[in-house]
Amino acid sequence: MNAQQQVRDLLDFIDASPSPWHAVASLENKLQKLAFRRLNEKESWSIEAGGRYYVIRDDSSMIVFVAGTKDLAQSGFKILGAHTDSPGLRIKPHPVLNSDQLLRLAVEVYGGPILASFSDRDLSLAGRIAYRTNEGNVASQLLRFDQPLLRLPNLAIHMNRAVNEDGLKFNKQTELALLFATATEQQLASDRFTALLHQASGLAPEQILSWELNVYDTHKGTFWGDDKVFYADGQLDNLASCHAGLAALLEPAVLAGGNTLVCAFFDHEEIGSESCKGAAGSFLPDALERISLAMGLDKQDYQRALANSLMISADMAHAYQPNFPNAYEPGHKIIVNQGPVVKINANHRYASNCLSEAIFIDLCRQAEVPFQKYAHRGDLPCGSTIGPIASAKLGVATVDVGNPMWAMHSARESAGVLDHGYMIKALQHFFL
Ligand code: ZN
Repeated sequence: MNAQQQVRDLLDFIDASPSPWHAVASLENKLQKLAFRRLNEKESWSIEAGGRYYVIRDDSSMIVFVAGTKDLAQSGFKILGAHTDSPGLRIKPHPVLNSDQLLRLAVEVYGGPILASFSDRDLSLAGRIAYRTNEGNVASQLLRFDQPLLRLPNLAIHMNRAVNEDGLKFNKQTELALLFATATEQQLASDRFTALLHQASGLAPEQILSWELNVYDTHKGTFWGDDKVFYADGQLDNLASCHAGLAALLEPAVLAGGNTLVCAFFDHEEIGSESCKGAAGSFLPDALERISLAMGLDKQDYQRALANSLMISADMAHAYQPNFPNAYEPGHKIIVNQGPVVKINANHRYASNCLSEAIFIDLCRQAEVPFQKYAHRGDLPCGSTIGPIASAKLGVATVDVGNPMWAMHSARESAGVLDHGYMIKALQHFFL
């Protein structure tokens, strides 16, 4: 596949994945077609050298791995980490607001989205719903509305005269509820929402116990710019890195290389990773230890394997936007379509150190891929990612990298087509 085709595949993946739960289901769908076998954490694992496996924790975090034929204690794990969640809006437990003949859904802010970017968009709902099965158990299933169902209309400029000078602001409690219907006298407002859940899930209203619903933009991904060198979609941060990681792992030469390869895709990065399935939780250490034990290693050899491992934590990076030159560190502007970025921060907001950084640069050179180095402005707080968290948890050397993108945490983010192909190529060299 050329870079354009790889990005087409990425946009299709994102459009099929309007929530972190859907992202994991989309990845699973792909893996099942390629003979990957699902392991269950509640059962004991038997793993064969050369076998392909994955394990899912709580529907939205996933670890994919290929058991190597080389001595694991010596070769170590080659780990790619990324995250499945994106900042945005989530529906509150009692969501329906009924006033002035209009129904609205109350939302809670998840992570740090650019709130104004969610206004005037064709929004809808996707997530998971938990229900009581006919056998009396509790189970969950995915839920998605395809049609635009929700909207956050802006105030007209005639009522917000200073919007272009003061910026577009929304109060998180009082001004973010999403319009979804005209109230009618025939139906209670809360029943209207339950009826929607019933309609989309096929579950009887009395079976439905709870749900987690993400607000997403129904606008599909697209190429833009002269020669279509750029692309735009929601959730590029960080589904683009999940896609690049898996595309690299699935390359036939990589699969045949004999290394023990791991892609760890975590939920909850945008809210600090502190959960049973986040990068600060036990999911990755648990899985790596179980892989080692199932492959016949003892505790000592497992520790040797970790010491011989490297993790590349891939998350998106802030591309230079020439309209705002003062927002960037002038000596570290990173440019779209000029290659993957190594993120460096002396205060360890990024996990890269001199050696792990050097290994990634060397990989890019081997892959004949350009690379760039990013440092944040000294007078602005620097963001972070799963790299330092997962690295501290495991004790594995880690480098933080990512592709340049514009408008991180907007409902509509954009990036460069060439960079996606470059990142896949660099990650293939890592796994080989
Ligand atoms: Zn991210």
